[in-house]
Amino acid sequence: MEALKLPHIEQYLTACVQCGYCISVCEAHRQTPWESDTPRGKIYYLNQINVAGPLDKPLGRVASLNPYFVDAMYKCTGCGNCEAVCHANIPLVELWETVRTWMVKNGVGPLSAHKGMGEKVGKVHNPYGGDQAHRGDWWPAEVPKYDQPDVIFFAGCTGSFRQQQIPQTGVRVLNRAGVKMNILGADEWCCSSPLLRTGDTTHSLECAERIVEKADGMGAKDMVMTCSGCYKTISTDFGTYYAKVGQNVYHFTQYVNNLIKTRKLPLLQPFNHKVTYHDPCHLGRHMGVYEEPREILKAIKGIEFVEMDRNRANSRCCGAGGGYKSQFNNFAVRIAADRIRDAEKTGAEILVTACPFCVTNLSQGAKAINSKIKVMDIGEILLQITAPAEEPKEAPAATEPAKERIQA
Ligand code: SF4
Ligand code: SF4
Repeated sequence: MEALKLPHIEQYLTACVQCGYCISVCEAHRQTPWESDTPRGKIYYLNQINVAGPLDKPLGRVASLNPYFVDAMYKCTGCGNCEAVCHANIPLVELWETVRTWMVKNGVGPLSAHKGMGEKVGKVHNPYGGDQAHRGDWWPAEVPKYDQPDVIFFAGCTGSFRQQQIPQTGVRVLNRAGVKMNILGADEWCCSSPLLRTGDTTHSLECAERIVEKADGMGAKDMVMTCSGCYKTISTDFGTYYAKVGQNVYHFTQYVNNLIKTRKLPLLQPFNHKVTYHDPCHLGRHMGVYEEPREILKAIKGIEFVEMDRNRANSRCCGAGGGYKSQFNNFAVRIAADRIRDAEKTGAEILVTACPFCVTNLSQGAKAINSKIKVMDIGEILLQITAPAEEPKEAPAATEPAKERIQA
C-alpha cells in the first residue's frame, strides 16, 4: 500500500513530547475511555502514519486512515483547552482542522451528520436548509433599518433560523443606544464555520466571498454579531483563506461594553440575581474575549456575580463545537450537564453565556439532569435592564433548545 502523505504538520508531531497534560482537560475524551481519542493519542497515531515504511509489512504494523482513527479525529469539540495547556505550545486547534481537511480530501470524512450540513450550505447557503429569502424575517418590526447603517448586524444561521430571540434581543438592545443598523438579509450566507471545523471546505470560499462583497457594499463601519462562532470565523478565518471584511468586527459583548462605558447605553433597571458566566470557547480561548462579558455583568445593579472554578482559559467546554454535537449528541449533552454542575456548585440561579450554541447545549444539559439553574444569553438580561421604567419587565426565562443540532 502506498504511504499516506500527511499535510505540513510534521513540526507539530515532532514537537509533542507526549507529556499528556492535554488529556485531563479534554471533555470529548472524558466521554470515551480510549487513549486514541485523547489529543496525545491522536498525535501519536499521526506520527505512526508519518513514519510508515517498508518494515511495516514484516512487522504486521498498519497505520492507516481507518474508521477508528477517523472517528477519533472527529471526537473533538475544537474547544482549544488542549492547546491552552500544551507543554510544547502546539497550535492544536489549527492542527485538528488541518487533519480533518486532509481526511476529507482523502475521502474519509466528514462524518454522516456533517455531510448534510455541507450539502445544504452549497444548495441554500445555510446548514439548516432554511429559505434564504426569509432569512431576515427575525428582524423586530419596531427597530428601524437604515439604508446607510453604522453597523451591519450579522445574525448567523442559528440566529436566523433557530434561536431568533438572540439576534432579536441583540438589535433591540443596540437600538436603545441609538445604533443605526441593517442586515445582509438574503445575502447573509453561512459564515462557513461548520464547514471549516469539520474539514469540508468545498463551499467555504463562496460563502466568504459573498459576505465580504455584500457587506462592503453597505458602507457600514462596523459589523456586530451575537454568535461566537461567526465572530471567530469572520474576524480571523476569512483573512486566512479569503479576505477580511472591510468593517471592524465585534462580538455583541465587546460592542455593548463599549456603549455602556461611553454612557450611550444606560442600565436602567436592577437585576437582583446571583449569576455566573460560561466562556464560549470561540469567544474566550480562541479570541481572548474574557473580560467584556464580565464587565457588563458587573456593571449591572443587583447582580451578584460568581465565578465557576473553571473559567476563562481553563473554562470547561459546553460540548457543542467542532461538529461534535451534530454527530455525537449524547456525549455533547453529557458534557453540557457537567458544565451545569460546575455552575450549580457556585450557588448561582442563572448561568449566562454569549453564544447561541452554548445556550442550546447548556439548556439541554440542564434539562438532562433536572437542574433548576436557568441558562440565559447575555442579551436577554441586557434587554430587561435597559428597559425604560414604564415598559413592563420580562421575567427571566430559560431559552428553548434549538430544534436541530448543528454546531461548529
Ligand atoms: S480541542 Fe478540546 S475536545 Fe478537541 S482534543 Fe483539544 S481538548 Fe479535546
Ligand atoms: S500537552 Fe502538548 S506536548 Fe503534551 S502530550 Fe499533549 S499535545 Fe503533546
